[in-house]
Amino acid sequence: MPDRPDQDVRLRPRRMDEMVGQRDVIERLKIAIDAARRRGEPLGHILFDGPPGLGKTTFATVIPVEMDTTVQMANGAGLKAPKDLLPYLTNVSEGSVLFIDEIHRIPKSVEEYLYTAMEDYRIDIVLGDGVNARTLNYEIKPFTLIGATTRAGMLSAPLRDRFQIREHLGWYSQQDLCQIVQLNSKKLGLDVDPQSEKIVASRSRSTPRLANNRLLWVRDYAQSKAEGKVDAGLTTAALDMIGIDPLGLDRQDRNYLETLIRVFVGGPAGLEAIAHTMNVSSDTLEDEVEPFLLRSELIVRTRRGRIATAKAFDHLKLAPPEATG
Ligand code: ADP
Repeated sequence: MPDRPDQDVRLRPRRMDEMVGQRDVIERLKIAIDAARRRGEPLGHILFDGPPGLGKTTFATVIPVEMDTTVQMANGAGLKAPKDLLPYLTNVSEGSVLFIDEIHRIPKSVEEYLYTAMEDYRIDIVLGDGVNARTLNYEIKPFTLIGATTRAGMLSAPLRDRFQIREHLGWYSQQDLCQIVQLNSKKLGLDVDPQSEKIVASRSRSTPRLANNRLLWVRDYAQSKAEGKVDAGLTTAALDMIGIDPLGLDRQDRNYLETLIRVFVGGPAGLEAIAHTMNVSSDTLEDEVEPFLLRSELIVRTRRGRIATAKAFDHLKLAPPEATG
């Protein structure tokens, strides 16, 4: 199912109070925001980590609203050399926010420039080399850096330590997802019965982005097949049609489990070997597929590799190795 960024923006909460779930994180951020405002200082730098689709970018867009300031959006993958940082840093206004998504992807050389920017609001850039080398010193307005990463473990300790606030975003409860589906059905002008809300929520892998994507598909399906009327039977048929199963797994998730079970006899198998066999990148598997499979206890990670659990065999209706032995 293609992602629909235009719709995603439409469904994204605009204020912190419109966000569902993540209550602890929101409470802590509200205190930090309130204190910073009272002191008339920029908010401390914030790092969000957690699997994709759980609200990192959403937080980075609602925090500036609460702080009454602007935000610039950058991606770690696009910051290849120190000079790539310059346009952003020279553009920051007092107290504004710079958001760097996928911050684990910035190279070490760029990371070092961020240190002085974050700590002293200063950046010293060397241009050219040899006798032509010259250093440019920029003073930067006091600002807030918000970093987001799916791989907190890949950040170096010096970078991690420069974030005063570090928040891990966890999976959403079924109840929270139902609420998101309900709110967004309203935004879309769609009449969805409670049973269908539950079905969409339970097949969304505890992830708001997926709940939105599934809901948009159910809307298309309902408009095309039932003049927009959504009920439980239609919702189930719509999700079955795009390969979303009752646990919320999509084709790629099941393909992963099938590869692990059929090709590697349940494991242990290394991530790279699984990725090669499936012909997808190991980053995609590690970021987008494995977190939910681990969380659902369908696989375990050991030092020798990934292993499919009895629950995974059961889910795919395959006999565990002992029985085939
Ligand atoms: P991430 O940056 O972690 O990958 P996003 O912030 O882009 O995730 O979230 C994806 C979508 O999910 C958002 O556009 C928004 O519609 C929805 N979403 C995320 N978190 C929440 C939340 N707490 N409440 C309501 N909707 C949310």
